[in-house]
Amino acid sequence: MNLKASVKRTLTGMLPIFICPPMAILMAYTGTALHGSFGDLFQFLRAEGIFSGIAMIWFPVFFGTKAAWMIIGIFAVIQLAFIKLLPGSRYEGPETIEGYTPVYKQNGRAAFFLTILFFCIASFGLHWFSPAIIYDHFFEIVGALNFTSLAFCLLLYFKGRFAPEPTDAITTGNFFNDYFWGIELYPKIGGWDVKHFTNSRFGMMAWPVIIISFAAKQHQLYGLTNGMIVSVILQLWYVSQFFWWETGYFRTMDIQHDRAGFYLCWGTLVWVPTVYPSAALYLVHHPISLGWTLTGFILFVGMSSILAKNLSNRQRLHVRETGGNTLVWGKPARIIRAKYININGEEKENILLASGYWGIARHFHYTGEILGAFCWSVPALFHSFYPYFYVTYLTILLINRVNRDDKKCTLKYGSYWTAYKKLVPYKIFPGVY
Ligand code: NDP
Repeated sequence: MNLKASVKRTLTGMLPIFICPPMAILMAYTGTALHGSFGDLFQFLRAEGIFSGIAMIWFPVFFGTKAAWMIIGIFAVIQLAFIKLLPGSRYEGPETIEGYTPVYKQNGRAAFFLTILFFCIASFGLHWFSPAIIYDHFFEIVGALNFTSLAFCLLLYFKGRFAPEPTDAITTGNFFNDYFWGIELYPKIGGWDVKHFTNSRFGMMAWPVIIISFAAKQHQLYGLTNGMIVSVILQLWYVSQFFWWETGYFRTMDIQHDRAGFYLCWGTLVWVPTVYPSAALYLVHHPISLGWTLTGFILFVGMSSILAKNLSNRQRLHVRETGGNTLVWGKPARIIRAKYININGEEKENILLASGYWGIARHFHYTGEILGAFCWSVPALFHSFYPYFYVTYLTILLINRVNRDDKKCTLKYGSYWTAYKKLVPYKIFPGVY
């Protein structure tokens, strides 16, 4: 590899590792201490200097606090126990290009339901702790999560280098690149599938508990407003659908393609709990009442968008499960039987759907994803950018993802992918992109 490519590889790994953790800390600090005002944050950083300002904010929570550790520890132990102990049938993920088939227990719905139930009964019902406990310790929790996750990704790096699973470990030999992208596709620790825990049962599962706690805090301080209710309902709707079809997640790029490293694991252990609920965090100190017409309209558009996104994911999976012999929106599915060669040189086949949602655009479901996120942010109205940070980030992420997926599929399917692109020319939104 020439020097230019090697430097590029190092920088693409190194820059996000150094930039994202302080960004998460600043997001959490701005949301809690500054009530969502980026203006106040910039003034502070201008007065103190960027690096010393960040250090002043970060150091007090760098290692978290005892309360934060307890909250994270109890939550993680419960989730690990749920994965193993809750009943559920066996589910096989897609076979990897190397011929490995990951196996899961289908108990995501029960785990989601019990997590919310336990939190609500223990706090609202039994008063073991305040339901606002997560809001009250949020900044410390993010500090603790950040520190632990960076260390955990280091563990994953060393595991990948020196004790990888028999299948699917790829190293570039460049520390920053391997730490950032990860080495193993399906690492296991202590019998637990790492990505199942970090992505689904920690990051996604923490999100609903966090927003319920934020809503409880608003209730304690100002009374609960319908702006907060709308935002929380839409986010709960999103997360409940995720767990309703958790097995669908095992067939997404996160699980099938991205390896267990900083990008995925730090992302789901820190970025998801910090940034995804940020619209609700902003609303804690901005009690906004929407009229009932507006409330109904936002709820309707938000719920439909999120539902459409999920139906689209389901449609693709269903067509593949039925071998293409099914109806899509009342008509026989229009499909391409795309052949590819796996790493063992064997010829395999996958179905590419070119009708239904997948005939509108190649990733029309991203439109539902973005619109849904906009709808749970818009109850904050337009006084600040803070509640729109997530949806802005999401749009950039998904545009980048479309292009990564395009590269992956071109490599995998060659002329079949070109034929699909001819049938469905737009990437996300027809006529626009
Ligand atoms: P997709 O669901 O878009 O799946 C992409 C894969 O699907 C491709 O790599 C290919 O895999 C297969 N595929 C592509 N085109 C077709 C087709 N026409 N017919 C059948 N299969 C096809 O991947 P994502 O992981 O990006 O998204 C999954 C869900 O997660 C989405 O709902 C998305 O909105 C959501 N998401 C949310 C994010 C967030 O942070 N909120 C971030 C990213 C995603 P194969 O190799 O199997 O052919």
